Amino acid sequence: MSADFLALAVPGVQKLSPYVTGKPIEELARELGMDPAQIVKLASNENPLGPSPKALAAIQDALPELTRYPDGSGYALKQKLAARFAIDPAGITLGNGSNDIIDLVARAFLAPGLNAVFSAHAFAAYPISTQATGAESRVVPAINYGHDLDGLIAAMDANTRVAYIANPNNPTGTWFGPEELERFLSRVPAHVVVVLDEAYIEFSEPGELPNGLAYLSRYPNLLVSRTLCKAYGLAGLRIGYGASSAEIAGVLNRVRLPFNVNSLALVAASAALDDEDYVLRSRQVNRAGMRQLEAGLQALGLKWIPSRGNFLAVDFGRDAAPINAALLRQGVIVRPVAGYAMPTFLRVSVGTEAENARFLGALEHVLRG
Ligand SMILES: *Cc1c(COP(=O)(O)O)cnc(C)c1O
Repeated sequence: MSADFLALAVPGVQKLSPYVTGKPIEELARELGMDPAQIVKLASNENPLGPSPKALAAIQDALPELTRYPDGSGYALKQKLAARFAIDPAGITLGNGSNDIIDLVARAFLAPGLNAVFSAHAFAAYPISTQATGAESRVVPAINYGHDLDGLIAAMDANTRVAYIANPNNPTGTWFGPEELERFLSRVPAHVVVVLDEAYIEFSEPGELPNGLAYLSRYPNLLVSRTLCKAYGLAGLRIGYGASSAEIAGVLNRVRLPFNVNSLALVAASAALDDEDYVLRSRQVNRAGMRQLEAGLQALGLKWIPSRGNFLAVDFGRDAAPINAALLRQGVIVRPVAGYAMPTFLRVSVGTEAENARFLGALEHVLRG
């Protein structure tokens, strides 16, 4: 007889639901018997521009070396990041996506009896990584769907080791400014590692949001996590990084699996960092697309949460599941966020002009019949 493996899992894991990814285009195409080329996916906050040509060329050049293990220290990419952002290379941790960084912090600093604090409606990776260690997730109610930074401080105690905050947050798109960040960091106890998740920072104009990297020298308990999977367009390769004090990076390096970042991701990330034009275009396409989506939603009489990311959480004021199902039948994939305690919302990623128009047209069809 087989054991009850769920009952054997640590209590935190028993309470988790698996992470829900955006529905793959191929899967919906199979279900609908539709040509994949006719399906629009605006469900995973992916870059609609396609990868940077510089990254593609770097991957091509690196292919003959695929029999070799990657550089496990990621020396060249760390040097590039350090020079590009004026940060200490000894404080950089490379990850298999920035999800890996979020998880490394949990594995290094959390255990049963300890806790991590984060906001309601925060990114799903935080509870997954926290509870996998047996630690407690302390979820603080949001204010207007955004982080209550004072509330997060109030939830901390002697057993708190990690605070996860995202600016802007996914799936809400909400953000906070430099004064709020400074106030938070200056009040967090020294024994709490703050993970400031800036996965979408490149979509805001310089100066619109606080640049977490600028706070590193004053806050040794701060780790800023960033990714090349969003504005840099490398989601399929899984590459992100943490920037922190060398001390925190040294701890994370103890739990990091050998070769956690693959060789193609390393070279593609270096090349993508050099393609400033690509990031600039990503920002412009996002800004224009955001305006297009907002105008279209407005015309349909819908409400949404203002966003500084490359996505919008749209509130239908009623169960959004049937609307999602109807959109899928139109070949449009967006993201239900009921798992984030937002059952009346759908999250839509900003796409190209044509993709946004297709989404708005399908939505109009669904809502107006
Ligand atoms: C997409 C996302 C990430 C980045 O994930 P990767 O592992 O780098 O693909 C991190 N945090 C948030 C809030 C995100 O939405």
